[in-house]
Amino acid sequence: MHTENYDDIRDGVRALCAEFPDEYFRKVDEARAYPEAFVDALTKAGWMAALIPAEYGGSGLGLAEASVIMEEINRNGGNSGACHGQMYNMNTILRNGSEAQKEKYLPKIATGELRIQSMGVTEPTTGTDTTKLKTTATKKDGRYVVNGQKVWISRIQHSDMMILLARTTPLSDVKKKSDGLSCFLVDLHQAIGNGLTVRPILNMVNHETNELFFDNLEIPEENLIGEEGKGFKYILEGLNAERILIAAECIGDGYWFVDRAKKYASERIVFDRPIGMNQGVQFPIAESYIEVEAANLMRWKAAHLYDAHRACGAEANMAKYLAAKASWEAANVCLQTHGGFGFACEYDIERKFRETRLYQVAPISTNLIFSYVAEHVLGLPRSF
Ligand SMILES: Cc1cc2nc3c(=O)[nH]c(=O)nc-3n(C[C@H](O)[C@H](O)[C@H](O)COP(=O)(O)OP(=O)(O)OC[C@H]3O[C@@H](n4cnc5c(N)ncnc54)[C@H](O)[C@@H]3O)c2cc1C
Repeated sequence: MHTENYDDIRDGVRALCAEFPDEYFRKVDEARAYPEAFVDALTKAGWMAALIPAEYGGSGLGLAEASVIMEEINRNGGNSGACHGQMYNMNTILRNGSEAQKEKYLPKIATGELRIQSMGVTEPTTGTDTTKLKTTATKKDGRYVVNGQKVWISRIQHSDMMILLARTTPLSDVKKKSDGLSCFLVDLHQAIGNGLTVRPILNMVNHETNELFFDNLEIPEENLIGEEGKGFKYILEGLNAERILIAAECIGDGYWFVDRAKKYASERIVFDRPIGMNQGVQFPIAESYIEVEAANLMRWKAAHLYDAHRACGAEANMAKYLAAKASWEAANVCLQTHGGFGFACEYDIERKFRETRLYQVAPISTNLIFSYVAEHVLGLPRSF
């Protein structure tokens, strides 16, 4: 049973968020800009280094605490999507990198001197079928030469490094389809214009995301993370942390929508009474609150299992599913409660509505969570 509320962390993040009110995020959204000042402030205050062990300059907190940071950002009207990669992408180095890589990169990631906000996995022609990805990294004269294409790779323009997943052994030469994929650290400043081309994708959310084209990009051999051919496993291990953090962001969104709906329903007078007196208005708000609270229980279960180094694949997936569903339903209810005003940008609801919708699709789509639970938890026959 979860009892800790992490008030110190909540108070600290809330105080920082108070300096970046709704208008700040609205203007950033309207300008399709990046919330640079907000991310800088979070980094300087040390919040982005929560998961980096103290010996490498971070605060060495657990995932439960880190998830509270993400939740509070979204609960206070912001969007963690601008920066959550900085918190968890370094996990691949921390868990699988050499001591030399950890010493070289982690302290700089902790201070924000190095931003490792990007992870390149998804490809245009293979999508969710990750083990079929076609980007190759071929070893040649002490370096790897990368060719291929990626899509939807976020925050490249606000990052110094990217974790890249590429195939080092052809699919036809491996026993298991998940073998033969490797993880690399790509120095984006060196790469862009020297074998890497970046094309931004204009999209529904103000989310900086891109197509990447690799044409003989050279990566030094020492930028391989862990063992060659084991990269898929490393990425999968990191995904549980990512799912739990995203679940927490959705929980933050869910509470934000419920709070806004509650406030408006209490204040808006139509037919000479607050609209919230009508059960047709108040019941959906109550239902949303119940669903956010229930999803939150699975988020805590998943986070505590993760922090106890216990298996949490099922719980991480289920937490992400439940939280993304609860926040999306709360978003719909909040919009409906506001009637026409929900569509006005100055109420911020349409912005948060768009932002929270993304989590049904990325970083893993709902069907793929069903597939995981059906096959890995319930033992149903594999469909792919
Ligand atoms: C804004 C944004 C940011 C992103 N950032 C990143 C990033 O930084 N790095 C990165 O690597 N990727 C990123 N992604 C990619 C994201 O992870 C993928 O879009 C997502 O995993 C789905 O892959 P896809 O788009 O190729 O869909 P597809 O694989 O083409 O699937 C399309 C639909 O079909 C369903 N489907 C596919 N196969 C099956 C099946 N066998 N059974 C049932 N249903 C199925 C899927 O659930 C989905 O609904 C981002 C995406 C977006 C939109």
